[in-house]
Amino acid sequence: MYKCMKCGKQFDNIEFIRCPYCGSKVFFKTTPPIARKLKAV
Ligand SMILES: [Zn+2]
Repeated sequence: MYKCMKCGKQFDNIEFIRCPYCGSKVFFKTTPPIARKLKAV
């Protein structure tokens, strides 16, 4: 997943090398929402 730095929307289609919503080329790759496992003890 990628998140646009300009409009904040997320998308996984990066074939256009730009945000499909606002056209911004500034975005960063985000990791999928995975629950982190923390040591409880
Ligand atoms: Zn955007």
